[in-house]
Amino acid sequence: MSTPTSTVTEDNKPEVEQIEIWKCKETDCKAWVRKEFVTEALPTCPLCKNPMVRSYKHVPVTAKKGNKKFLVGKKRF
Ligand SMILES: [Zn+2]
Repeated sequence: MSTPTSTVTEDNKPEVEQIEIWKCKETDCKAWVRKEFVTEALPTCPLCKNPMVRSYKHVPVTAKKGNKKFLVGKKRF
């Protein structure tokens, strides 16, 4: 059993979704990209040029547009 460095509240975890990704084969390399953004059949890592492998990743569900109230009135130009 490993001791986690950060405490995670199991009963109040944020919603996550599983996405398909390509990740770098090099374990020291943290590079990964969503599969939908990749057009190559066999992409290479943009950082270290190693081959990438298919994988899955759990990411927090992106907040739906309109769900949050944004401050309006400030025009950015
Ligand atoms: Zn890499």
